[in-house]
Amino acid sequence: MVQRRTIAQDNFDSEFRPAGPGRPAELVIRLRVRLLARDPLAPATSGQLEHFAPTTAAAHIGRLNDAQEYPFRCRSWLAPEFAAFSAKFKQMVELVWNNQLILLPPNVAESGDVLSDADYLTFISRRGLAAHVRCGFEIEFVPAGSASTPHAIIEAVRLWPKDDEIPPFPFRAFASRITNEDVEFTRPPGQSFMHVTAAHEVGHWLGRDVPASDPARFLHHIDWQKCSAYPDYVPGSDCEYGRTLSRRMALMGSGSLLTDYEAGPWLLRIRRHTQVLFGWKLIHRIHFNNFQVPISDRQKRVAAANPSVPP
Ligand SMILES: [Zn+2]
Repeated sequence: MVQRRTIAQDNFDSEFRPAGPGRPAELVIRLRVRLLARDPLAPATSGQLEHFAPTTAAAHIGRLNDAQEYPFRCRSWLAPEFAAFSAKFKQMVELVWNNQLILLPPNVAESGDVLSDADYLTFISRRGLAAHVRCGFEIEFVPAGSASTPHAIIEAVRLWPKDDEIPPFPFRAFASRITNEDVEFTRPPGQSFMHVTAAHEVGHWLGRDVPASDPARFLHHIDWQKCSAYPDYVPGSDCEYGRTLSRRMALMGSGSLLTDYEAGPWLLRIRRHTQVLFGWKLIHRIHFNNFQVPISDRQKRVAAANPSVPP
């Protein structure tokens, strides 16, 4: 097995960290994000889309469209307010994407794959815990003027509704535009599940490494593929967010759960990092922590031959 520790691509970067004594193996996807404090008065074509107001009274006030092209009243951000928002954005998006997905390496090498005992050892942190890889996620901000190219450019708008002019429905965020209200767990109207909108929108950026004009560049809603084949399909329709309860609970549906669908980017990368193409299994951390994965005979043998592996 050839192990690549880091892979840097235009869609996202990833890093494989082998297990150590008592420390699980990790596969961390790192997304470089340019989070932009959107000036509501700047035209979309402007080279300067950001504005920080010294005071609320001096803020620019204008209208910016949501996903349904409804113009919402917004103001420019104050710098301290945007700093707090950015920190919360990173914290909440990482909270939702981190620590839910666990990948289990194949016990037996399948045809064409070479997984030596030494390789298998890189997934073992303890004798009493099944060999596994924890899937992680990190946001790295790309500041204004940085020479580094971001993987994702996301505009943050500061809603500023007038008391006598409350919009008839909430702002509908999309991959490139979120609001100051999108970094908390909320229950959107008509939905049954708690959801962090910012984490969902960041998820859309975890598609394939293809040009932005290719639909595969974005990770779509969980049932987009099936729904988009219907003759009466309307993009963004409710059907995309999950046609069954279990799919609706998913983060790329209307909930917060990471499922086989959200695991796709990690599965693709673990194959590339390890060159092991087949036999990976996914398990949610809750089930893994309940010791629902037995210790394989191979793990017992490999650990017995390596006294440095702790109990
Ligand atoms: Zn979405």
